[in-house]
Amino acid sequence: MNLSCQDVTDLLAEIFDRSLPVEVQTFVERHVHTCPDCGHRVDTYRATVVISRSLPKCDRLVPLPPAFEERLRTLLRHAESRQC
Ligand SMILES: [Zn+2]
Repeated sequence: MNLSCQDVTDLLAEIFDRSLPVEVQTFVERHVHTCPDCGHRVDTYRATVVISRSLPKCDRLVPLPPAFEERLRTLLRHAESRQC
């Protein structure tokens, strides 16, 4: 089984949770060890989850200022269209 970088990206949550079948996890680990981009992606995802879980819980949602929300949505759309 050969995995693409997109396959690894699509499986980030399962990789982190170690919820993949053992044989798939082995192929993922093989790819990540030989692909610096995916290695960096997995490390970044792991760090993001660890940092997010260390933040205090917020018991109320605060709406974003409309101009900031629109700019953020525009940036996210651009980022999504540039993914390989
Ligand atoms: Zn890769």
